Amino acid sequence: MRCSFCRGEAVYEARYSGARMCRYHFTESVERRVKREIRAQMDLKGNTKRIAVAVSGGKDSSTLLFLLHKILGNRKNVEIFSFTIDEGIEGYRPPGVESARRLSERLGVEHRVLSYREAFGATLDDMVKMDSGRTIPCSICGPMRRRLINEASLRIGADYVALGTNLDDYAQSILMNVFRGDVARMARLGPHSTVKEGLVPRVFPLRLVPEKEVMLYAILNGIEFDAGWCPYYSRAQRNEFRDILNSVEERSPGTKFSIVRFYDGIRDILADAYQAEGLGHCRVCGSPSSSDVCPVCSFLERVKGSGV
Ligand code: SF4
Ligand code: ZN
Repeated sequence: MRCSFCRGEAVYEARYSGARMCRYHFTESVERRVKREIRAQMDLKGNTKRIAVAVSGGKDSSTLLFLLHKILGNRKNVEIFSFTIDEGIEGYRPPGVESARRLSERLGVEHRVLSYREAFGATLDDMVKMDSGRTIPCSICGPMRRRLINEASLRIGADYVALGTNLDDYAQSILMNVFRGDVARMARLGPHSTVKEGLVPRVFPLRLVPEKEVMLYAILNGIEFDAGWCPYYSRAQRNEFRDILNSVEERSPGTKFSIVRFYDGIRDILADAYQAEGLGHCRVCGSPSSSDVCPVCSFLERVKGSGV
């Protein structure tokens, strides 16, 4: 198989475009998309801007940190920081934290760790035990992680927080919101061009890079990452959407990109919905929340009786 651009030996064929790429042109193609998204999602002109990168130690966020450092590392007015959220999941999280720490150190990026234990008084493992199986771990872990990601970014004084969401994750999220009929959540997905007080704007520089391209990029560029799986990772609803999307993509290559194009086409309309949605504060913890008591506090209140 020959590269469509230089006749060198191809390492990858992108079925959505028909292009075959050698190592060099594959790397260039990934970086071109990421640079375009960086330009579109962040305003990095003028004053010094701080970017906080949420790194779990997995392939996506590790590749994200590597790429942001490669693309923006020499810019005098850009400062990059990284952080890891430690949920407290035995056997799974420690190697991830370690991998994120090592990668940050290698790149010369300041790294910090925020833990559930420190922020919420218990590890996720403890909470799952206390809750005796009543709540699906992911449904509480998600809001807690989002909360801490924002908190870590505020502490860093970041102008943006970058997440390792790849094309597959992003298209799945859009589709899930359509299936649930959840316009407000769709509007919250972002990236946003307007800022809400107390919330550091989230950016998704990898949102046009398919999952398998992230994986190949990481391997070809010697990026270390932890390939472990969370023990609570369930056959949750997201997996159903992963299967649906993969089977449609198989028959009609390019569908995942089309879904993102569709979302981008309606983002301006959604922006009005996003702004109109009054963002109040949780009356227990005071963090930004669209409900009276945020999901994190209502969960914690409920398990408090059990001793957490
Ligand atoms: Fe948390 Fe679920 Fe992710 Fe595990 S799979 S880290 S429980 S959100
Ligand atoms: Zn080539």
